[in-house]
Amino acid sequence: MTRPRVTIDLDALAGNYRLLRQRAGGRTPAGMVKADGYGLGAGPVARRLVAEGCTRLFVARLDEALAVRHALGASTGGPEGPGVEILVLDGVAPGTEEELVASGSSPVLNDLGQLERWRRAARSAGRPLPAALHLDTGMTRLGMPPPEADRLVADPSLLDGIDVGIVMSHLASADVPGSGQPAEQLERFRAVRARLPQGVASLANSSGTFLGPEYHFDLVRPGIALYGGAPRPGPNPMATVATVEVPVLQVQDVEAGTAVGYGATHVTDRATRLATVAVGYADGFPRAAGRDRFVAVGEGILAPVVGRVSMDLVIVDVGALPDGAVRPGMPVELLGPNRPVDEVAAEAGTIANEILTGLSPRYQRIHLGDPAG
Ligand SMILES: *Cc1c(COP(=O)(O)O)cnc(C)c1O
Repeated sequence: MTRPRVTIDLDALAGNYRLLRQRAGGRTPAGMVKADGYGLGAGPVARRLVAEGCTRLFVARLDEALAVRHALGASTGGPEGPGVEILVLDGVAPGTEEELVASGSSPVLNDLGQLERWRRAARSAGRPLPAALHLDTGMTRLGMPPPEADRLVADPSLLDGIDVGIVMSHLASADVPGSGQPAEQLERFRAVRARLPQGVASLANSSGTFLGPEYHFDLVRPGIALYGGAPRPGPNPMATVATVEVPVLQVQDVEAGTAVGYGATHVTDRATRLATVAVGYADGFPRAAGRDRFVAVGEGILAPVVGRVSMDLVIVDVGALPDGAVRPGMPVELLGPNRPVDEVAAEAGTIANEILTGLSPRYQRIHLGDPAG
């Protein structure tokens, strides 16, 4: 191989989607495709999810919605896509109303200010406009705080011209074993939902989907689990979606006492063999992380990264592999069947989401199983 690449197995993603649908009692999940589909390519991911029956896709920003709409249009021959709603989590920022209306996307309305902007946009458009209502039930990030929800209940005219398709909230600790917060949020969500019965109800992200049927409501919103990340600590039921491979550039035999890399932070404690491979912090391989990091070489043998991570390069101690097993041009697996994303993330002191979204654009991305071919 010559170019670092990310291979994205959309058949595995589709399998994960079907498993999540099954876990959600057969209800069709939304697909979270924000941040370019968690770094794996929102267009191909969206096309495949839609082919699996998904009808609601969430992005964070308006420009992401435009990109997903474009990608779906290209696969279906029409600009609107096959009846797929694209929802923008950030909502409607001042001055973006017209563009949002024109894009055919729906905002997730996070406060009464956003609600008012969308109400005015509906009046200008002369027709009802679709939206989701996001209620905060304890995360204190985005979403209407309880007093705003109370005002909404007290004055339904605040929703004039708004076609509320989803009433939603977001769980803060669904992946934290033993946390009491999900149950608290569930109670609050039930209470506020009873007073705002419009559209469908949605609470669970990936980990929430695995908390049990009371968390499912009408619509679950999995993200990381679609992409192969473990929804909860423990055995991971999701299939690997992304495989990241980079080529070996150089192989050298060194003596004991050889200084390796910038700052000579590693000195070999024995005669060994080192491979320099084509990945660095510019590719999203975190520089500021612990020493215990591994890549898979040859037949999935784990070899440690030694010395500092450079911009475009890391050095790997391959002394444990047989003579001649490591050659320039052979692929080294950074992420994939031998390197689960959650393990890689733990070694780097972070979470799977950050590893995936940090994969730089300079990787070649290869999508297997894209309906657009
Ligand atoms: C990102 C996000 C999700 C998906 O979360 P995962 O933990 O990746 O499953 C669901 N809902 C909201 C509001 C989000 O921002």
